Amino acid sequence: MSERIQAPRGTQDVLGEQAVARAELEHRAHAVLDAAGYARIETPAFEATELFARGVGESTDVVQKQMYTFSDAGGRSLTLRPEGTAPVCRAYLQHGMARLPQPVKLWYLSSFFRYERAQAGRYRQFWQVGAEAIGSDDPAVDAETILLLAELLEELGVRARLRLGSLGTLDARNRYRERLASHLHAHAAELSAEVRERIDANPLRAFDSDHAGTRAVTARAPKLLDALDPDDVEHFAAVRALLDDAGLPYDVDATLVRGLDYYTRTVFEFDSPQLGAQSGVGGGGRYDGLIEALGGLPTPGCGFAAGAERILLAGENVPLPTATVDIYVGYTNPDRRRTAFALALAARRAGLNAQVELAGRSLKGQLKHADRIGARLLALVEAEATALKEMETGEQVTLGDDAVVAEALRRR
Ligand code: AMP
Repeated sequence: MSERIQAPRGTQDVLGEQAVARAELEHRAHAVLDAAGYARIETPAFEATELFARGVGESTDVVQKQMYTFSDAGGRSLTLRPEGTAPVCRAYLQHGMARLPQPVKLWYLSSFFRYERAQAGRYRQFWQVGAEAIGSDDPAVDAETILLLAELLEELGVRARLRLGSLGTLDARNRYRERLASHLHAHAAELSAEVRERIDANPLRAFDSDHAGTRAVTARAPKLLDALDPDDVEHFAAVRALLDDAGLPYDVDATLVRGLDYYTRTVFEFDSPQLGAQSGVGGGGRYDGLIEALGGLPTPGCGFAAGAERILLAGENVPLPTATVDIYVGYTNPDRRRTAFALALAARRAGLNAQVELAGRSLKGQLKHADRIGARLLALVEAEATALKEMETGEQVTLGDDAVVAEALRRR
């Protein structure tokens, strides 16, 4: 026998209960997002590498270390999508969605790819449910995307805490970056090597560090929230007022920075205590500079993305639908296989969940199998007629083959 091939590290097969739970997540995301007028979008699994280099930011961890980038046979540099916002913005531009009433509201449930250290809750291929509202800078958009994610998490039994911050406009942030960089340079010896090396490239990432010395330095650093322009302060206050009105609790977190460069103004993250080290279940924010960076006219946007695997890990008490088998069709003699097969097809066409014997089991084996899959009715096709049996009560009737479906429907 040749050696078995395993799935690559950091990937998962979705099967059994996991597959049912995933379908339920999709179903509920549909319900929550459809109700708010978000339309589904599916973008390609790979894009031009340039999209992420420009859209996510050259200095981010995602672009520097985590992308699955390859050249195709035509010599183009392509990248498996590491996130969903840049592709959706690319699609917005490519399909001229600026002509539609704004904001354009889109949602997705797709797989994403990042070369990360694989561990519980952190994979190299993972799924995100996300939503983007492009074309309006109204603070109601920020509040709505946050509330939609909160609702989705609640629907899926995830208890999560919301942290909220504002990064200001790109101008305000750039001015702040310089002040922060000089604070970090002044305390360079206390910082982790990684943060120290990137003081000028990406000083804000210092706030993401777990390194004790770095944390002590950032605790004393000037805060971006105290350095916002008046417009940004007003925008942030309006977002908070709408969340307050909606009764959604949150903590303002002046140190909240997100891993992607494109955020402006509102940023948010939901953490779930059920998740342990990888506590981030979903987050997002406003990205008013992104569409322009991708070659469009200046266009504001805001959205969220949440990890499907983490939602399912953290979710509690969500009843999963169980598949029902209305009827199992077996036969006592192989020469009745064609009749049994036709009967199962007819039952399905009539709207019943019908399974047919597919493995040539003995009669005893068929009875056992019908029981194992939880069939409510068993139809045994015999030479002259078909026996229809209620599995639970054992009650049995004998019918002509063409009367079986009507009787099964009657007994549903
Ligand atoms: P991000 O796009 O990095 O803001 O991530 C948004 C959400 O996606 C996170 O809160 C996680 O729930 C999920 N996520 C991000 N990276 C991974 C990963 N490598 N494995 C599993 N889930 C992830």
